Amino acid sequence: MAIHIERGNIVEVARGPRKRRMVPGSALLDGLAVVWTHWRESFRMNRDFSDIHGTFTQEYPDEQPKLPEAYRNMPILLYDDASGHELCTSCFQCARICPPQVIHMTQAKDPVTGKPVPAVAEFIIEYDACMSCGFCAEVCPFDAIKMDHNFELSTVDHPGLTVHKQELLRPISYYQRIAPTFWAEAEAGAMKKLQGNVKRRPDVIGLAPQLTEMLAARRRELAEQAAAAPPAPAAPAAAPAGEARKLTPEEKAAKLAAIKAKNAGAKGEAPPAAATPPATEGMSPAEAKAAKLAAIRAKNATKETAPAPPAAAAAPSTEGMSPAEAKAAKLAAIRAKNAAKNAAEGSAPPAETAAPTAEAAAPAAETAPLDAKAAKLAAIRAKNAAKKAAEGGGEG
Ligand code: SF4
Ligand code: SF4
Repeated sequence: MAIHIERGNIVEVARGPRKRRMVPGSALLDGLAVVWTHWRESFRMNRDFSDIHGTFTQEYPDEQPKLPEAYRNMPILLYDDASGHELCTSCFQCARICPPQVIHMTQAKDPVTGKPVPAVAEFIIEYDACMSCGFCAEVCPFDAIKMDHNFELSTVDHPGLTVHKQELLRPISYYQRIAPTFWAEAEAGAMKKLQGNVKRRPDVIGLAPQLTEMLAARRRELAEQAAAAPPAPAAPAAAPAGEARKLTPEEKAAKLAAIKAKNAGAKGEAPPAAATPPATEGMSPAEAKAAKLAAIRAKNATKETAPAPPAAAAAPSTEGMSPAEAKAAKLAAIRAKNAAKNAAEGSAPPAETAAPTAEAAAPAAETAPLDAKAAKLAAIRAKNAAKKAAEGGGEG
C-alpha cells in the first residue's frame, strides 16, 4: 500500500514499546560498552573460529595458515609415488578449456615406432597469466592436474614463472596430504586409468624426471641380479620356416599315406584313380591342401603313364610342399625305387617281407584309428607293387 506524504510534513514511525527509558547520554554509554567488549576480546585467541569474537591474526610466516581443501592457487601435475608414472596422458582437455590459454604441451612418442602414446613429453604453464580458476583441474579426466595450496610465489624472476613439467610435478602423496577428502574420492578411478595408460605406452615414457635416475638405477640393479643368476634351461629350437607347428602322429600318418599313394600311382602299379582320398581330419588348412594336391597328382600321373616309367623317373614333385613334406616325399620315393630295383634284380625279398612297411604303419594306426586305414592301404599297395615287379623280373 502506497503512503502519500505531503511535502513539509513530519512522519513519526512507531518502533514498538521502549525497553528502557531514554536518558540523556545513555546512547554514548552503549557505544562505549561495544568498544570495551571488542578491546577485551582482543586478548583472547580464537583459532577455531568458534564465534565471531576473538583474535584471528596469525604470526605469518612463522605460523602457516590452515587452508581449506578447496583452496586453489596454481595448478600442479601428479605422478605415482611407487612407479614414478605421470598421470597425464596429453589429452589436451585442460589446454583447450583454459580461459587465458596459458597451458602448452606436446605429446610423447614411442621411441621405436614414432607413434604418439598416452603420455606428455613437455608441459608448460605460464603461472604469471594463470588466474587460478581451476577449470583445468575440473575438466581433467585422469585427475592428473590439481590446484596447489602454495601461494608463496613472489619472485623477481619473471621468466621463472613459465613453469615446466619437471617443476610442476608432485607425488600423489603430496596432494593427498593437502586435500585428503578430494583425493579419496578420486583415487580409485585415477589409479585404474593410470594402469590402463601405462600398458599403452613404453616403460621408459611418462616417467617423472625426478625419478628417472632412481628407476634407471633400480633397473640396472635388477639386470645385474639376473646376469648373476644361473642360466635358465635353453628353450627348444624354433620350428623351421613354413612349419608353423609340430605335426601330430595322426597328421604324419595321413601325410605319409598320401605320399605313398602318389608314388605308387606314379609307377602305374596301383589303381590310384580309385585311391582313397587322404584323411584330412585334424589337419591345418595348408596341410590338408598339400595332402589333397599330392593325391590328385598321383591320380593324374597314373592316367598319363600306362607303361610304368623307370624307377629313376619316379622322383616326386616337391613343388608347393613345405621342407618337411618334401623331405618325407623324397625319402618315400627313394625307398620305393630301391624296392623296385631289388625286385628286378631278383634279390627282392619275398612279397611277405614287404610286411614291415605295413608294420611300420601300425604304430601310427594305433595312435590314429581314423588314418590307419589309409596308411595300411598304402602299405598293401606298396607290397603288391613290389610283388608285381618281382614277378615281372622273374619272367624277364
Ligand atoms: S587455473 Fe584456470 S587459468 Fe590457470 S591454468 Fe588452469 S584453466 Fe588456465
Ligand atoms: S593434465 Fe589432464 S586434461 Fe590436461 S592433458 Fe593431462 S590428462 Fe589431459
